[in-house]
Amino acid sequence: MKLCRFNDNRLGVVEGDQIIDVSAALERLPAQRWPLPPGDQLISNLPEMLEAIKAIMPSAPTVSLDSASLLSPIANPNKVIGAPVNYYAHQQEAIEQSADFALKDIKTIEEYGLFLKTNVLVGPSEGVALLFPERRNDHEVEVAMIIGKQGKNISKEDALSYVAGYSIGLDMTVRGTEDRSLRKAIDSYAVLGPWMATADEIADPDALEFSIHVGDELRQKSNTEKLIFSCVDLIAYASIFYTLYPGDVIMTGTPEGVGPVADGDVMHCWAQSIGEMHVPVRNVA
Ligand code: MN
Repeated sequence: MKLCRFNDNRLGVVEGDQIIDVSAALERLPAQRWPLPPGDQLISNLPEMLEAIKAIMPSAPTVSLDSASLLSPIANPNKVIGAPVNYYAHQQEAIEQSADFALKDIKTIEEYGLFLKTNVLVGPSEGVALLFPERRNDHEVEVAMIIGKQGKNISKEDALSYVAGYSIGLDMTVRGTEDRSLRKAIDSYAVLGPWMATADEIADPDALEFSIHVGDELRQKSNTEKLIFSCVDLIAYASIFYTLYPGDVIMTGTPEGVGPVADGDVMHCWAQSIGEMHVPVRNVA
Protein backbone atom coordinates (compact mmCIF):
# COMPACT_ATOMS: atom_id res chain seq x y z
CA MET A 1 0.00 0.00 0.00
CA LYS A 2 1.18 3.52 -0.81
CA LEU A 3 0.23 5.92 1.98
CA CYS A 4 0.37 9.66 1.40
CA ARG A 5 -0.34 12.85 3.31
CA PHE A 6 -1.86 15.44 1.03
CA ASN A 7 -3.55 18.85 0.85
CA ASP A 8 -4.67 19.93 4.32
CA ASN A 9 -3.13 16.94 6.17
CA ARG A 10 -5.45 14.41 4.53
CA LEU A 11 -4.45 10.73 4.64
CA GLY A 12 -4.58 8.91 1.33
CA VAL A 13 -3.92 5.61 -0.38
CA VAL A 14 -2.41 6.03 -3.83
CA GLU A 15 -3.74 3.70 -6.51
CA GLY A 16 -2.75 4.50 -10.08
CA ASP A 17 -3.56 8.14 -10.81
CA GLN A 18 -6.02 8.41 -7.92
CA ILE A 19 -5.78 9.06 -4.19
CA ILE A 20 -8.36 7.34 -2.02
CA ASP A 21 -9.06 9.73 0.85
CA VAL A 22 -8.99 7.59 3.98
CA SER A 23 -8.67 10.49 6.43
CA ALA A 24 -11.64 9.13 8.39
CA ALA A 25 -9.33 6.38 9.66
CA LEU A 26 -7.37 9.03 11.60
CA GLU A 27 -10.28 9.19 14.05
CA ARG A 28 -9.06 5.83 15.30
CA LEU A 29 -5.74 7.21 16.54
CA PRO A 30 -5.59 7.35 20.35
CA ALA A 31 -6.12 10.76 21.94
CA GLN A 32 -2.88 12.39 23.07
CA ARG A 33 -1.92 14.04 26.35
CA TRP A 34 1.30 15.73 27.36
CA PRO A 35 3.97 14.45 27.35
CA LEU A 36 3.54 13.00 23.87
CA PRO A 37 5.25 9.68 23.20
CA PRO A 38 8.28 10.01 20.89
CA GLY A 39 7.72 9.34 17.24
CA ASP A 40 4.98 9.62 14.65
CA GLN A 41 1.60 8.46 15.90
CA LEU A 42 0.35 7.22 12.54
CA ILE A 43 3.38 4.97 12.19
CA SER A 44 3.38 3.76 15.81
CA ASN A 45 -0.24 2.64 15.30
CA LEU A 46 0.26 1.45 11.73
CA PRO A 47 -1.03 -2.16 12.00
CA GLU A 48 -4.34 -0.99 13.49
CA MET A 49 -4.50 1.95 11.09
CA LEU A 50 -4.00 -0.29 8.05
CA GLU A 51 -6.96 -2.39 9.19
CA ALA A 52 -9.10 0.74 9.57
CA ILE A 53 -7.94 2.04 6.19
CA LYS A 54 -8.77 -1.21 4.42
CA ALA A 55 -12.21 -1.22 6.03
CA ILE A 56 -13.16 2.24 4.77
CA MET A 57 -11.42 2.17 1.37
CA PRO A 58 -14.34 0.72 -0.62
CA SER A 59 -16.60 3.65 0.27
CA ALA A 60 -13.97 6.40 0.58
CA PRO A 61 -13.94 9.40 -1.80
CA THR A 62 -11.17 9.79 -4.36
CA VAL A 63 -9.24 12.74 -5.76
CA SER A 64 -6.91 12.77 -8.74
CA LEU A 65 -3.23 12.46 -7.87
CA ASP A 66 -2.37 15.28 -10.28
CA SER A 67 -4.55 17.75 -8.39
CA ALA A 68 -3.20 16.94 -4.92
CA SER A 69 -0.40 18.64 -2.99
CA LEU A 70 1.82 15.93 -1.56
CA LEU A 71 3.31 16.53 1.90
CA SER A 72 5.93 14.49 3.70
CA PRO A 73 4.31 11.11 4.46
CA ILE A 74 5.82 11.35 7.94
CA ALA A 75 4.41 14.29 9.88
CA ASN A 76 6.23 14.00 13.20
CA PRO A 77 9.55 12.18 12.99
CA ASN A 78 11.63 12.02 16.15
CA LYS A 79 14.74 12.29 13.98
CA VAL A 80 16.07 12.10 10.45
CA ILE A 81 19.34 10.20 10.19
CA GLY A 82 21.80 10.76 7.36
CA ALA A 83 24.51 8.47 5.99
CA PRO A 84 27.60 10.33 4.71
CA VAL A 85 29.73 8.99 1.83
CA ASN A 86 27.94 5.65 1.62
CA TYR A 87 28.77 4.92 -2.05
CA TYR A 88 32.39 4.56 -3.23
CA ALA A 89 31.67 6.36 -6.51
CA HIS A 90 30.35 9.34 -4.54
CA GLN A 91 33.48 9.31 -2.38
CA GLN A 92 35.54 9.43 -5.57
CA GLU A 93 33.69 12.47 -6.95
CA ALA A 94 33.94 14.20 -3.56
CA ILE A 95 37.71 13.72 -3.69
CA GLU A 96 37.84 15.08 -7.25
CA GLN A 97 35.72 18.10 -6.27
CA SER A 98 37.22 18.54 -2.82
CA ALA A 99 37.62 22.30 -3.29
CA ASP A 100 33.87 22.68 -3.92
CA PHE A 101 33.03 20.29 -1.11
CA ALA A 102 35.36 22.26 1.24
CA LEU A 103 36.57 18.96 2.64
CA LYS A 104 40.27 18.16 2.85
CA ASP A 105 40.36 14.45 3.55
CA ILE A 106 37.29 12.62 2.37
CA LYS A 107 36.68 9.32 4.11
CA THR A 108 33.77 6.89 3.98
CA ILE A 109 30.89 6.13 6.31
CA GLU A 110 33.06 3.59 8.11
CA GLU A 111 35.00 6.49 9.63
CA TYR A 112 32.34 9.22 9.69
CA GLY A 113 29.48 7.20 11.13
CA LEU A 114 26.12 8.94 10.80
CA PHE A 115 24.72 12.44 11.22
CA LEU A 116 21.36 13.98 12.07
CA LYS A 117 19.36 16.26 9.87
CA THR A 118 16.57 18.20 11.55
CA ASN A 119 13.30 16.45 12.13
CA VAL A 120 11.59 18.98 9.85
CA LEU A 121 10.66 17.27 6.59
CA VAL A 122 8.88 18.72 3.61
CA GLY A 123 6.97 16.94 0.89
CA PRO A 124 7.46 17.39 -2.85
CA SER A 125 4.69 19.97 -3.20
CA GLU A 126 6.43 22.28 -0.72
CA GLY A 127 9.70 22.26 -2.64
CA VAL A 128 13.18 23.33 -1.57
CA ALA A 129 13.96 26.94 -0.64
CA LEU A 130 17.64 27.76 -1.14
CA LEU A 131 18.94 29.79 1.80
CA PHE A 132 22.34 30.67 0.30
CA PRO A 133 21.79 30.71 -3.48
CA GLU A 134 25.27 32.16 -4.01
CA ARG A 135 26.77 28.94 -2.63
CA ARG A 136 26.66 25.47 -4.19
CA ASN A 137 23.40 23.74 -3.22
CA ASP A 138 23.37 20.07 -4.26
CA HIS A 139 20.69 17.46 -4.72
CA GLU A 140 21.42 14.11 -3.09
CA VAL A 141 18.78 11.58 -4.08
CA GLU A 142 18.56 8.63 -1.71
CA VAL A 143 16.36 5.73 -0.74
CA ALA A 144 14.79 6.49 2.65
CA MET A 145 13.68 3.94 5.23
CA ILE A 146 10.93 4.70 7.72
CA ILE A 147 11.25 2.92 11.04
CA GLY A 148 8.06 1.24 12.24
CA LYS A 149 8.71 0.38 15.88
CA GLN A 150 10.98 1.30 18.75
CA GLY A 151 14.31 -0.48 18.81
CA LYS A 152 17.82 -0.40 20.26
CA ASN A 153 20.80 -2.64 19.44
CA ILE A 154 18.85 -4.23 16.58
CA SER A 155 20.51 -7.25 14.99
CA LYS A 156 21.08 -7.40 11.24
CA GLU A 157 18.85 -10.46 11.13
CA ASP A 158 15.95 -8.51 12.63
CA ALA A 159 16.68 -5.14 10.98
CA LEU A 160 14.10 -5.21 8.20
CA SER A 161 11.33 -6.19 10.61
CA TYR A 162 11.75 -2.69 12.08
CA VAL A 163 10.92 -0.97 8.79
CA ALA A 164 7.40 0.36 8.22
CA GLY A 165 8.06 1.45 4.65
CA TYR A 166 10.18 3.26 2.12
CA SER A 167 10.17 6.64 0.41
CA ILE A 168 12.47 8.70 -1.75
CA GLY A 169 14.62 11.11 0.24
CA LEU A 170 16.36 14.25 -0.92
CA ASP A 171 19.26 15.09 1.40
CA MET A 172 19.72 18.64 0.17
CA THR A 173 23.13 20.05 0.99
CA VAL A 174 24.84 23.42 0.89
CA ARG A 175 28.56 22.79 0.38
CA GLY A 176 30.97 24.50 2.71
CA THR A 177 33.10 24.19 5.79
CA GLU A 178 30.36 23.94 8.40
CA ASP A 179 29.38 20.71 10.09
CA ARG A 180 26.99 18.46 8.13
CA SER A 181 24.30 18.85 10.78
CA LEU A 182 24.20 22.58 9.99
CA ARG A 183 24.63 22.53 6.21
CA LYS A 184 22.14 19.71 5.64
CA ALA A 185 19.49 20.74 8.14
CA ILE A 186 18.32 24.05 6.76
CA ASP A 187 14.52 24.39 6.56
CA SER A 188 13.22 22.38 3.57
CA TYR A 189 16.59 20.64 2.98
CA ALA A 190 15.02 17.27 3.78
CA VAL A 191 12.39 16.17 1.27
CA LEU A 192 10.48 12.92 1.78
CA GLY A 193 7.99 11.56 -0.69
CA PRO A 194 6.03 11.13 -2.75
CA TRP A 195 4.46 8.71 -0.24
CA MET A 196 5.44 5.75 1.93
CA ALA A 197 5.38 2.37 0.19
CA THR A 198 4.70 -0.07 2.99
CA ALA A 199 7.47 -2.58 3.63
CA ASP A 200 5.53 -5.49 2.12
CA GLU A 201 5.83 -3.78 -1.30
CA ILE A 202 9.65 -3.88 -1.31
CA ALA A 203 11.10 -7.35 -1.68
CA ASP A 204 14.71 -6.24 -1.04
CA PRO A 205 15.63 -2.64 -0.14
CA ASP A 206 19.25 -3.46 -0.91
CA ALA A 207 18.44 -3.92 -4.60
CA LEU A 208 16.47 -0.80 -5.60
CA GLU A 209 17.16 1.28 -8.70
CA PHE A 210 16.70 5.01 -8.26
CA SER A 211 17.47 8.21 -10.14
CA ILE A 212 17.09 11.97 -10.33
CA HIS A 213 16.76 14.30 -13.30
CA VAL A 214 17.05 18.07 -12.98
CA GLY A 215 14.85 19.31 -15.78
CA ASP A 216 15.63 16.95 -18.67
CA GLU A 217 19.16 16.16 -17.48
CA LEU A 218 19.88 12.83 -15.80
CA ARG A 219 22.12 13.58 -12.81
CA GLN A 220 22.16 10.48 -10.62
CA LYS A 221 21.22 6.85 -11.31
CA SER A 222 22.27 3.97 -9.11
CA ASN A 223 21.14 0.97 -7.11
CA THR A 224 21.14 0.41 -3.35
CA GLU A 225 23.10 -2.80 -3.98
CA LYS A 226 26.12 -0.47 -4.23
CA LEU A 227 25.72 0.94 -0.71
CA ILE A 228 28.80 0.59 1.52
CA PHE A 229 26.59 0.24 4.62
CA SER A 230 23.49 -1.56 3.30
CA CYS A 231 19.99 -0.79 4.52
CA VAL A 232 20.31 -3.69 6.93
CA ASP A 233 23.71 -2.48 8.15
CA LEU A 234 22.42 1.08 8.65
CA ILE A 235 19.57 0.03 10.93
CA ALA A 236 21.83 -2.16 13.05
CA TYR A 237 24.56 0.51 13.23
CA ALA A 238 22.24 3.46 13.92
CA SER A 239 20.50 1.55 16.71
CA ILE A 240 23.79 1.08 18.55
CA PHE A 241 23.90 4.87 19.03
CA TYR A 242 20.26 5.93 18.86
CA THR A 243 17.03 4.42 20.10
CA LEU A 244 14.96 4.26 16.94
CA TYR A 245 11.33 5.35 17.18
CA PRO A 246 8.33 4.87 14.88
CA GLY A 247 8.55 7.42 12.09
CA ASP A 248 12.30 7.91 12.29
CA VAL A 249 13.72 8.34 8.81
CA ILE A 250 17.06 6.94 7.67
CA MET A 251 18.30 8.49 4.43
CA THR A 252 20.65 5.79 3.19
CA GLY A 253 23.20 7.87 1.29
CA THR A 254 23.68 9.27 -2.17
CA PRO A 255 25.52 7.86 -5.18
CA GLU A 256 27.74 9.72 -7.62
CA GLY A 257 26.36 12.57 -9.71
CA VAL A 258 25.48 15.10 -7.03
CA GLY A 259 25.25 18.56 -8.50
CA PRO A 260 23.91 22.05 -8.03
CA VAL A 261 20.35 23.26 -8.35
CA ALA A 262 19.10 26.82 -8.71
CA ASP A 263 15.95 28.89 -8.46
CA GLY A 264 13.39 27.61 -10.98
CA ASP A 265 14.78 24.08 -11.34
CA VAL A 266 12.54 21.06 -10.88
CA MET A 267 14.03 17.83 -9.50
CA HIS A 268 12.38 14.66 -10.83
CA CYS A 269 13.14 11.75 -8.51
CA TRP A 270 12.27 8.11 -9.10
CA ALA A 271 12.78 4.89 -7.17
CA GLN A 272 11.88 1.36 -8.18
CA SER A 273 8.76 -0.02 -6.43
CA ILE A 274 8.22 3.36 -4.70
CA GLY A 275 7.31 5.90 -7.38
CA GLU A 276 8.31 9.32 -8.61
CA MET A 277 8.14 12.85 -7.29
CA HIS A 278 8.71 16.31 -8.71
CA VAL A 279 10.30 18.87 -6.41
CA PRO A 280 10.59 22.54 -7.35
CA VAL A 281 13.50 24.72 -6.22
CA ARG A 282 13.21 28.41 -5.32
CA ASN A 283 15.26 30.96 -3.46
CA VAL A 284 14.20 31.92 0.04
CA ALA A 285 12.02 34.98 -0.39
MN1 MN B 1 23.27 12.34 1.73
